[in-house]
Parts: sequence; C-alpha cells; structure tokens
Amino acid sequence: MLGLMQEWPLLCHKIIDHAARQHGNREIVSRSVEGPIVRTTYRELRQRALKVAQMLERDGFVLGDRVATLAWNTARHVEAWFGIMGIGAVYHTLNPRLFPDQLAWIMNHAEDKAIFVDLTFVPLLEKIAPSVKSLKKVIVLTDAAHMPETSLPGAVAYEDWLAGADGDFAWRSFDENTAAGMCYTSGTTGDPKGVLYSHRSNVLHAMMAAMPDAMGISSRDSILPVVPMFHANAWGLGQSAPMIGAKLVMPGGKMDGASIYELLDTEKVTFTAAVPTVWLMLLQHLEETGKKLPYLKKVVIGGSACPRVITKKFQENFDVEVIHAWGMTEMSPLGTLGTMKPEYAGLTGDARLDIQEKQGYSPFGVEMKVTDDENRELPWDGKTFGRLKVRGPAIARAYYGGAGTEQFDTEGWFDTGDVAHIDPNGYMQITDRAKDVIKSGGEWISSIDIENLAVGHPDVAEAAVIGVAHPRWDERPLLIVVPKAGKEPSKDDILRFMNGKIAKWWMPDDVAFVSEIPHTATGKIQKTALRERFKAYALPTA
Ligand code: AMP
Repeated sequence: MLGLMQEWPLLCHKIIDHAARQHGNREIVSRSVEGPIVRTTYRELRQRALKVAQMLERDGFVLGDRVATLAWNTARHVEAWFGIMGIGAVYHTLNPRLFPDQLAWIMNHAEDKAIFVDLTFVPLLEKIAPSVKSLKKVIVLTDAAHMPETSLPGAVAYEDWLAGADGDFAWRSFDENTAAGMCYTSGTTGDPKGVLYSHRSNVLHAMMAAMPDAMGISSRDSILPVVPMFHANAWGLGQSAPMIGAKLVMPGGKMDGASIYELLDTEKVTFTAAVPTVWLMLLQHLEETGKKLPYLKKVVIGGSACPRVITKKFQENFDVEVIHAWGMTEMSPLGTLGTMKPEYAGLTGDARLDIQEKQGYSPFGVEMKVTDDENRELPWDGKTFGRLKVRGPAIARAYYGGAGTEQFDTEGWFDTGDVAHIDPNGYMQITDRAKDVIKSGGEWISSIDIENLAVGHPDVAEAAVIGVAHPRWDERPLLIVVPKAGKEPSKDDILRFMNGKIAKWWMPDDVAFVSEIPHTATGKIQKTALRERFKAYALPTA
C-alpha cells in the first residue's frame, strides 16, 4: 500500500521560492569584485535568478547542459546557481586555484557549454577557453562600465545580458533526481573526478546541514560563508542559508584577516565557516590589533584537521564556539560535526578540547563505519583505526564518467580514503589519509595528531609530518616546519614542547625547517610533493 501524501519533488528552486516568500526582505550583502559592498534581498535575488533562467533558455541551453562558474562568493554567483538549476541545467563550480591545464581538462571532461566568470578570472579563462571546444557562451559577472577588453569570443557583461529578460518566467519542472550541480575533486594523484549532485541530494543535504546539532543555523543568524562556493557548495550554505532565511554575507575575493574582520563586525555576523588557514589569519589580525568579536557566536572549521590552538583561542579569548567538521566533495560535503551530545556537554577546559579535536559525529543522513583491509567492521572503541566508509542520500554512488569504481562497493558504501577511529559515543577522529599513514614497526602513526601538536608551538607557522624510510622500523616520522616570520625555533625547542603530549614512539625522529610547504588547490598539504623532496632524507636515528 502506498501512502497518500502529495508528490512534491525536492527541487532546489523551491528553496529560493521559499526564501523570497517567507524571508523576502532578508539581506544578501556582498563584497563585490569591483570593490564596493552591494546589498540585495532574497526577493530581488529570486527575481534575478528567474531572469538568468529565462536568458539561458533564450540562448538555447536546456535540461542537462553543464554551465560552469568561475567565481567568488557573491550574490551574483548565487543567483546564477539558482537560474541554472531552475531550467534543469547543471551548475559546475570551477576552482580557480587549479592550474590552467587542469581546469581545461575538467571543463572538457564535463563538456561545459557556458560559463559565468568573475572579472578576476577573465585572464585565466582567456588561457583555457580556446581548448574547450564545447564552450558556446561566456558571461562576465559585471556591468558594462567594468567590462574589460577580452579575447574571449562573444563575451557579454552579465548586467547587459540580464537586461534582455523581463523575469516573467516559470521554473521548469522535472524529477527530483535530476542533476543540479557538479564539482570535481582535486585528488593529489590521478585525474580529477566529477561529483554530480542532484536536486534531491542538495535539498536533503541543506536540511541536514541546518539541523540544531549540525550547523544549527536559523533566520536570526547572519552567515558569512568564507568557504568558497567552489568547495562543495560552500559546505551546503549556498542552499541551507536561503532555506532557513538567514542573512548572507558574501566575502567576494578578499579572505585576509582584516577584510574578514571588517565583514564580521559591520554585518554583525553570528555564524561563519572556513578552513583552518583562514582562521589563523583572522586570529593573527585580532592579536595584532587587539580587536574583539562581539557578535560572532559560532565558527565551523573543516576541510583539514582543526589545530587545537585555533579552537582554544576562539573559545577562551573570544567566547566563540568552534564546531570541528569533516566532509568531502563526494558527501555534498558534510559528514560529521563536533557539536556536544549530553555525554560531553558538561566538559570544560582541556577535556572539552580533547573531544573537539575529533571531527564529530554524523547527523541523520550519514551512516559511517570503519573497517580493516578485509572489509571487516571494527569496534567503536575510540582507538582502533581503519578505513572510514560512508553511505547516505547526499553521498556519491559513482563519479561522473565512471572513474574510481573501486571506491564504491556493492552494499552502497563509499570508501573515503580516510583512516579513522570512532569512540563509543559515535565521535569519529581522522588519523590520516590512507595513503599518508606512517607505518612504524607495523603500527600506524597518525601524522595529523603530530602536526596539530607542532603548530601549537608559538614559533611554528605550519607543520607537516611524513614517513621517511628507516632500516629498523620501516618508516619513522619526520616533522617539517615553517617557522613564523622572524622566529628561529630549534629542533630541541620543538621536540621539548611536544614531549609527553603524544606517545613516545610517535615522536618525530627529526625536524626539518623549510620556508614553505606545498599545498593543493583546496589548501591541503601536498604530502606527495614533500615525500618526493625528502625521499633520500637521512634520519639521525637510521
Ligand atoms: P575535499 O573533497 O577536497 O573537501 O577533501 C576531503 C578530504 O579532506 C577528506 O577526505 C579528508 O581527508 C580531508 N578533511 C576534510 N575535513 C577534515 C577534517 N576536519 N579533519 C581532517 N581531514 C579533513
């Protein structure tokens, strides 16, 4: 017997309809790429998104066409997203930090037919566009006055293009499993892989993200997604903020400490989210200027492990709650969040920080388990590490074009490639990427734990740990350190600082000082490059 409830497909444009109707006057504030702060509302944004949809159809784009965006977080980018999805086309967010060759490869793989591009990235697109044969239309996200000279064939200024529509348009209707968006993961090895979100998965993910024990956001919040829309939907905020009617504050291309502080202050931001590097820059700015954060209540930190010192400073010096989160492009992206269950809610000081070093627990909609290499499930005892596997309605079941099939099993589990343990209360902690794990005498050493500890040293700006060949132990950890500007910490200094805070056999065998650590386009430490550089390193213990 079937239930007798209405068919109401979970389509993304219903989110912006709801925002315009119930929260029509709520502001979206953007630091525009041209410079000034620009204000709009959900009502106006929806109207302009309808014009985007109308113009795309007029230009011949249809259901299933991939429409790329190469843009910062601004209201224009959000309205382009909703306009693209509203005709059943697929927004494809490109990460401008990738190399031009990689971007061209990705655009060709996705067969992008049109692109919305920010002024900042016009020179980059000029390099790529000639090799993307599918590309028919270039729309520069600016007005006629700011339109640059460009070699991009037929490029139009967004505002001129949009002026051709009257907005008298109805969203198209289709199945909720229709593709809505696309984002490529920038693996450190091999070609990038395309993740294809559906309308249904985006809507479910947005609901999940907003829940009280997930991000816990509401219409009373002023939300600053520093995390870019090209990083897995700005961690879902691109959809969950309009869904719950929160004020949105978009940082454009400026993510330095002073610029972020200015928005936090003038727009009375209560909730923000980004990777640890952004928060290191902000905290440094606050320390240099003596400024405070009177409005900010919560900050979500993820993308890579959040060092304890960041959590401690936010909470103890600024009274801002930190939520450590873990996720992946393949998971839309949220997987776990470190909000407090009653079991941990009463903890304070170091005991609380210990729990917050974990990546948290999964909300409804994410199932997880850890297994050994033979796929046997491991206990939730808070110490047995294994491969972390996940499944759920907003988690990829395949990559676009069929790459990476070995990561998906027949029971629907996706192998994340992360190594983790889960404690009896369900809190997961990542110890490594499977391929980065250090094996010493047959036992695993967590490089993340050592890195987090090392960056707690006052003279250390950044730290990375890799395994280096050792005749007796097979591999031993080498700590690679970038000192803070003007500081010259010694090896003994750093090791003394770490001593007693991790197991003795986890202590690095040596410390190497470098001026810079290489990063991937999503800001993760490029361990492959470090391993290559230090492969012949002679450890003093060898
Ligand atoms: P991406 O798809 O680019 O977001 O990368 C996902 C990967 O980033 C995960 O598989 C993890 O290896 C890593 N990652 C994300 N969040 C965290 C976190 N809070 N702690 C440690 N690693 C993380």
